Amino acid sequence: MPNLFEITRSPGEILARRTYVFDRLIMASPYISSDAITSISTADVQLMFELYDEIFFDHRIKQAFPGQMKFSLSRRLTKSAAKTFYTRATGGIMAAEKTIEIRMGVDFFIKYDEIETTKAVCGITTTCPLEAFLLVFEHELCHALEFIHFESSNCRGRRFKMIAKKIFGHTESYHELPTPREIAQAKYGLNIGDQVTFKYIGKRVEGILYNINKRATVIVRDRNGAFTDCQGNRYVKYYVPLDSLE
Ligand SMILES: [Zn+2]
Repeated sequence: MPNLFEITRSPGEILARRTYVFDRLIMASPYISSDAITSISTADVQLMFELYDEIFFDHRIKQAFPGQMKFSLSRRLTKSAAKTFYTRATGGIMAAEKTIEIRMGVDFFIKYDEIETTKAVCGITTTCPLEAFLLVFEHELCHALEFIHFESSNCRGRRFKMIAKKIFGHTESYHELPTPREIAQAKYGLNIGDQVTFKYIGKRVEGILYNINKRATVIVRDRNGAFTDCQGNRYVKYYVPLDSLE
């Protein structure tokens, strides 16, 4: 198996290669045409993988992994910006049937500019959505590399941090991109526990802001509600678009 970890590059070399991936991606992708991300397809993630394998690894990831690499997109990731899944070759699964799936969140990048904050990813300050997208993908690639070589991966572990630093210059294992909760706080002044009202089938309904993901979860007192608090009060849950709350 080719060793994927023997590479050590200076910060300048890493940046030059990342910039090259960035430019080639914009040139080759039918959807990504600038540093902003407005629409994206799984083919773009596949393309990004091909570019990273070529530019950072001289095609050695494909040589090292006999299984199948899969790529997907999700609009449901609201804390992690991406996830990597691995199917081990156990219980009769052949090496060629192993799979690694990198699932990239979408909303973090589409909503990148919604609020003004420092948007570091893996300890590196980013300046545009596409750069953040590449850095998140690099983090997931490190998970893939660990899976390929060691059958397990953990980005809180020392080994992971060493790999991510050596290959991509990452100094942290997390992102500081705005979450739906932070965007709701900054843009709409909404906080969990707030008393809110909204319109439901023409009626004004009053409740408590319970959670914020893509939409707000509002709980409204209702004696027929299915949801009970520790004092025995019953509630009904509503999912409300953030801009419909008052
Ligand atoms: Zn991770």
